[in-house]
Amino acid sequence: MEAELKEMLKDLESLKSLLPDPSHLSSINKLQSRVEHITNMAYSTPMRRSKVKDMSAEVVDSNPYSRLMALQRMGIVNNYERIREFSVAIVGIGGVGSVAAEMLTRCGIGRLLLYDYDKVELANMNRLFFRPEQVGMTKTDAAVQTLSDINPDVVLESYTFNITTVQGFDTFMTSLRTKAFGPSKEGNGVDLVLSCVDNYEARMAVNQACNELNQVWMESGVSEDAVSGHIQLLIPGETACFACAPPLVVASGVDERTLKREGVCAASLPTTMGVVAGLLVQNTLKLLLQFGNVSPYLNTLSVLDELLPLFLSQGYNSLKDYFPTMEMKPNPHCSNGACLERQKEFLLSKPARDAAAARARMEAEAALVAEGPLHDDNEWNISIVDDSDVEASGAAISDALPEGLTRELPSADHFQKPQAAEPSATIVDDLEELKKQLEALNAD
Ligand SMILES: [Zn+2]
Repeated sequence: MEAELKEMLKDLESLKSLLPDPSHLSSINKLQSRVEHITNMAYSTPMRRSKVKDMSAEVVDSNPYSRLMALQRMGIVNNYERIREFSVAIVGIGGVGSVAAEMLTRCGIGRLLLYDYDKVELANMNRLFFRPEQVGMTKTDAAVQTLSDINPDVVLESYTFNITTVQGFDTFMTSLRTKAFGPSKEGNGVDLVLSCVDNYEARMAVNQACNELNQVWMESGVSEDAVSGHIQLLIPGETACFACAPPLVVASGVDERTLKREGVCAASLPTTMGVVAGLLVQNTLKLLLQFGNVSPYLNTLSVLDELLPLFLSQGYNSLKDYFPTMEMKPNPHCSNGACLERQKEFLLSKPARDAAAARARMEAEAALVAEGPLHDDNEWNISIVDDSDVEASGAAISDALPEGLTRELPSADHFQKPQAAEPSATIVDDLEELKKQLEALNAD
């Protein structure tokens, strides 16, 4: 294409020299500049930055991590650069998974494992992330293409298979165990699994794998009617697993696949998907980088949830912007054998956990005593006042001004209310007067 455009420019140049009438010159010039513009666009290739060895906090326009490292300077995160040590597996690269993958990529996560067997379709374009020119590519490959352009520092692995098949499940387990990225790490090869799938079967497969591997994971979902969703943190043995509270569809023996109606598809909105992906990644960052509180269960109620009353007892409706949280203890009668094993281990480790917690509490108290008062030099004479005192003394405190200060405007108490209209007697008098006048007129 570039060669043809070059030829076209040459033709226009020679046409200009051959032109007998100079009045046509401006039109040719205009045409020539348009072709030059298209040529430039054809030549421009997307800019790819080179890899960055260390995350720097340097505040320069060319530093892709300066805004993230600022979290450390502002005391939100202790050591942001640790994010490069973490591996996160995302199962399901759809409306939620793809956006979660992009967020983690932009945050500079160390390694992402992406699982999906589907292809990009035009029907996905109402959501974020995928582009029309990627239609027909597998979602995992299209995701790797986009994400590696955004941040070449992230190690991306694409797994294109269905985790609910026997072979797929085995490959899934092996990939989660593999420790090529952090050989010295304890446990599995990944730090967290994010389930962003859209069906029960796949969720149960993720649940099974994570229970067997004693792997912490987070579940997410968006309702069929697109206006709500949920996220849930699952720690094997410690919190309820996905099988601990069986959804009604299974309890009643109905196969989920039969619930899908021919020709009827679930609704989806980029907004709800974006909200759920945002909540999921926010909690992922909090969990990995250890700041704030991680939501054990954050739910945004839905039509799907109506099918799962045992599992989701409360929820948020996006129409009301309501975000309740709740914790779910594991079910001692869970049908999942691996879940029961993890529960046993968790109970056995209780004394050690209690001792560690007591030790940490004592250390924290000792550190507090050693530190002394927070601010020794109270330059501004700031003192802490009990809330109830303020309420009891009421407006007197809020109205009092330090010596030497006066109010430019009167305070509310001094505001003169406009004089109320005189009682209706005047009106009655006026009416009487009017009546008299009318009678006088009629008498004439
Ligand atoms: Zn369970």
